[in-house]
Amino acid sequence: MQVPSHVEYERATSVEHALSLLRRYETRVLAGGHSLIPMMKLRLAQPEMLVDINGLTELAYIKLDGGQLRIGALARHADLLDSALAGQHFPIFHDAERVVADPIVRLWGTVGGSLCQADPSEDLSAAFAATHATAVIRGADGSREVPVREFHLGPYETVVGRGELLAEVRVPVHAGAGSAYEKIARRVGDWSVAAAGAVLRLDRENTVKDAGIGLTAVGAEHFVAAEAEEYLRGRAADEESFAAAGAIAAEHCHPVADQRGPEDYKRHLVAELTTRALRHAAKRAAS
Ligand SMILES: Cc1cc2nc3c(=O)[nH]c(=O)nc-3n(C[C@H](O)[C@H](O)[C@H](O)COP(=O)(O)OP(=O)(O)OC[C@H]3O[C@@H](n4cnc5c(N)ncnc54)[C@H](O)[C@@H]3O)c2cc1C
Repeated sequence: MQVPSHVEYERATSVEHALSLLRRYETRVLAGGHSLIPMMKLRLAQPEMLVDINGLTELAYIKLDGGQLRIGALARHADLLDSALAGQHFPIFHDAERVVADPIVRLWGTVGGSLCQADPSEDLSAAFAATHATAVIRGADGSREVPVREFHLGPYETVVGRGELLAEVRVPVHAGAGSAYEKIARRVGDWSVAAAGAVLRLDRENTVKDAGIGLTAVGAEHFVAAEAEEYLRGRAADEESFAAAGAIAAEHCHPVADQRGPEDYKRHLVAELTTRALRHAAKRAAS
């Protein structure tokens, strides 16, 4: 199939207008359209109506507020990559955005679309999971907050319900924390074979106070390497701990063999990329 089936189209003029349209049956939000339109062409998605939110500039921002980096759902990948504020507090987002697709996709694809698409290979899902971010979902009755670690119910499925909209992602800022993202793809601009993101908070003795580790494209539950995070807490932030955490992350994820490689290769990548991301995050935390 090369063309989508018939679909109604409405351009939302406000968040409230979008929410009222989204209450209708089989309606989908249209953000960047980089995932939804191809899925409609393949008839993997057949909404009856598209609600275009591209006019809702009130959802397109990146700002610091109340000790949190707040990213509007309509912020584009390119906005996140260009944001000095985001880069200053969370270099993990710049690392990840540099390797998301290509400049054309990054200019139009959105942060909200990335999370809501819930593709297991989506780089930002792991990056936000590593940072312990919170998703703010708007509905007719107001807003609710859901940790990004509980946002995805499975591939292509999230907790955003009928009549709701992902409005914002909030990331807690911790002074002195360091973060990094490491990805291996078959070629420039491609989806991950595997990737790992890490956030580290260290104390003065160079001991890990807290660790966040997100994994991409390797079947990690909620994109998180929980056992490796647990292992690191209270340990020295050194090569030995990072390598051991990498091995634990590789053991507990669930990669599947596909055109991007066999399972054992992907586990090897998880061990190596987790170790590299932790090493890089520790350097940034100390600097
Ligand atoms: C060629 C190509 C290569 C790519 N490579 C990568 C890559 O390497 N890494 C990577 O991470 N991504 C990659 N992507 C994905 C891309 O970066 C976008 O993140 C993705 O297309 C989704 O963003 P979008 O704004 O286009 O969402 P859309 O396609 O508009 O929407 C995707 C889904 O999310 C829903 N949605 C969108 N916004 C909201 C909202 N605010 N609230 C509720 N639901 C919403 C839509 O209804 C739809 O179901 C690639 C895409 C392409 C086309």
